[in-house]
Amino acid sequence: MGEFVRESAGRKKIVVAAGSNVLTKVRDTVDSSLRGKAYWVEVSAPDLANVRKVMKAASDTCCIVGVGGGKSVDVGKLAAFRKSLPFYSVPTSASHDGISSPFASIRGLDKPYSLKAKPPLGILADVGVICSAPRRLLASGCGDLVSKLTAVRDWQLAHRETGEYYGSYAANLALMSADVVIEGSRRLGSFGKDSVRDLVEALISTGVAAGIAGSSRPCSGSEHLFSHYLDLIAPGRGLHGEKCGLGTIMMAKLQKGDWEVVRAALKSVHAPVTAAELGLKEDLVVEALVRASSIRPERYTVLSKFKLDRQKSMSLAGSTGVI
Ligand SMILES: [Zn+2]
Repeated sequence: MGEFVRESAGRKKIVVAAGSNVLTKVRDTVDSSLRGKAYWVEVSAPDLANVRKVMKAASDTCCIVGVGGGKSVDVGKLAAFRKSLPFYSVPTSASHDGISSPFASIRGLDKPYSLKAKPPLGILADVGVICSAPRRLLASGCGDLVSKLTAVRDWQLAHRETGEYYGSYAANLALMSADVVIEGSRRLGSFGKDSVRDLVEALISTGVAAGIAGSSRPCSGSEHLFSHYLDLIAPGRGLHGEKCGLGTIMMAKLQKGDWEVVRAALKSVHAPVTAAELGLKEDLVVEALVRASSIRPERYTVLSKFKLDRQKSMSLAGSTGVI
């Protein structure tokens, strides 16, 4: 890490944001690598209070580094954006594409989806460390990757029906990442070192796709709206990528895509394919399908087109085996 951030370091301190677990594990190694320049800030939750804490620590600083699974990267990214400082992302797991994207998911804001920040100046992903993260986190990363299939179709739909800008290069880049899971699910399921490297690189690439598009469009469509709505009505149930995976199965069917292939790929990587596996009751899934598009009305998706009522939602979730 010392070599990695040295260019922007100079004589100034480096603010390192990390959760308490990660902090205990890596503090000594990072301190010696940064030759005493690290100034640690413990991140307890992905919320604005923690963003402010990191910003406060970041005076006379050359850059901010976020080390951890998700919250520290999100908090560090937004703090760096607001302080106009370079940000380095050091993910210790690969459960979603926030490790590389120009967006930060922060709780307690008026909008229940990701805020625009800026992409990291660098991403230091130690595949050995990420391999040792719980399998559930890696499976969740696969859920976030397959979601690019339905996100891109929603983007194409919006382009056709509303004239919204559509960039085929960014779209294809995102689809290539989804293919890592669709084509390679059997190999990925064992989560060996090579497979995890593919998974991490695919997640990084989707962040690049969002950067090229200048919006989260290639990475986030109706399946993400479904996941964000569940965040509101069932907080703490299921990981982001797990909920996006469930959403992708259903939205793929609604888009007349090959939802069974999505479901089979998720099963192969041991990601959940039913609401029960996430402890979600049927009526929560139905409510999320009915109301998801209301949280971001300007984002035109297949849910804006078909406007599902309770009965249609029930039949969609039932026919895909989600409930
Ligand atoms: Zn996502």
